Amino acid sequence: MPVVPVDGTATPPSADRPLRVAVVGAGPAGIYAADALTRQDAVPVAVDLIDRLPTPFGLVRHGIAPDHPKMRAIRDTLHRTLDDPLVRFVGNVEIGKDISLDELRRHVDAVIYTYGAAIDRHLGIDGEGLPGSLAATELVAWYTGHPDADRARVEAALAGVRDVVVVGVGNVALDVARVLARTPAELESTDMPQHVLDTFAATPVQRITVLGRRGPAQASFTTQELRELDGLEAATVLVDAGDLELAPDAEERAAADRNVARNLTVLRGWVDHVPEPGRTRLHLRFFARPARLLGEERVTGVEVERTAVDGDGRAVGTGELDVLPADLVVRSVGYFGTPLPGLPVDERSGTVPHEAGRVLRDGKTSPGEYVAGWIKRGPSGVVGTNKHDARETVASLLADAADGSLRTEGAVGDLVEELVSRGAEPVLVDDWRAIDAAETALGATRGRARTTLHEREALLAAVRAAVR
Ligand code: NAP
Repeated sequence: MPVVPVDGTATPPSADRPLRVAVVGAGPAGIYAADALTRQDAVPVAVDLIDRLPTPFGLVRHGIAPDHPKMRAIRDTLHRTLDDPLVRFVGNVEIGKDISLDELRRHVDAVIYTYGAAIDRHLGIDGEGLPGSLAATELVAWYTGHPDADRARVEAALAGVRDVVVVGVGNVALDVARVLARTPAELESTDMPQHVLDTFAATPVQRITVLGRRGPAQASFTTQELRELDGLEAATVLVDAGDLELAPDAEERAAADRNVARNLTVLRGWVDHVPEPGRTRLHLRFFARPARLLGEERVTGVEVERTAVDGDGRAVGTGELDVLPADLVVRSVGYFGTPLPGLPVDERSGTVPHEAGRVLRDGKTSPGEYVAGWIKRGPSGVVGTNKHDARETVASLLADAADGSLRTEGAVGDLVEELVSRGAEPVLVDDWRAIDAAETALGATRGRARTTLHEREALLAAVRAAVR
């Protein structure tokens, strides 16, 4: 398995000259890829796990809802990979800004892209651009303390909000609806930044309507997440009985799919619920799609069209319209992957074309380039789905290393030294530990387990303070 060093002679990877792999994106897919690389001993490897943020964990930190502490605890498991001596976390480094992709590739033998699918899909309807209309990605970034969140925009959208419409019936839509329905006391134990808790405390939402453009048998949320809505301290879940009367083919689907059958059982248990004074109404509405957002200066309502599901499972409009008052509309209709400078993505799917994780450029395998996670398969599955996905990619990489097709021009020089020489400020695992400790200490000042530091400068200040 030759790696061709700078003098052109092919040598197999060894402890002295391991196969150098850069993994771009330190979320679950990247960490599982690093784990799969280090859990085998056929090929000596050294992994640089690069992230744009000074913090690891990707969507585990900035996606999984902060009121899901058990799910977020997966970071303790993921941390074991960061602690592996064969893995070097290199945070606060942006490909295309601190170093180009071509330059990165000159420092390693192979790259695995695992940077996810960060942007939101649009509805393509009138009024979508009004103030008070947000993407779930914007709201989630803000409440999880993502350094790039647009705080002013989100807080302006939340000011004085009473009526919320959430578009989409996936798990992200349920996360958003649930978080908005929680009381300040319920959120206190999360690691949300303090300004997020303060804003929510000043935003006593009264009505939340979640719109599914198709029926309950086609909803993509999972039963566990659905059932959780029942446990909200100060919100009542409402469902219209008429939405649960299914066409014969939807009944068949329900009978054949355990998740659908369970969802329907949970939903049917809620049809007798009635609004209760003083409690937030969380209304799940199906066969309803937004036709346009209403308002002049900002959103005031949503015109909703009743739909039916056609023989191909598509939502078709019936022309029957009604208006829902809304001062905030959150679209939660899926994510989309963007190109990295120098790495094209397919415009329609928002994913990098690949074959078993091997990147395809112009339809041909591009030696030394691999892909895993959402940017490989699209935004689907749970955190654990990335484990299997990353293993497939790493198996391709190791097979290429074994048959000699993973040849590089040189792969010389240390990446971190190169970055520092360019004035970049890479954050390594000990630096991340300093951030971790600073967040724990900040939380303790208010009797919380942790408070997320939400500004890049504050994250870097924690690193610098520890180095001094
Ligand atoms: P998703 O599951 O794909 O849901 C997207 C929703 O948006 C669907 O209901 C879809 O309806 C709807 N939609 C799409 N375009 C629309 C339009 N133009 N108008 C109205 N509705 C539209 O995506 P997601 O909720 O963003 O979740 C992404 C992934 O993360 C999923 O795999 C999810 O399970 C996972 N996740 C898991 C958890 C958890 O495990 N707790 C939490 C969050 C996210 P159609 O079906 O009709 O297209």
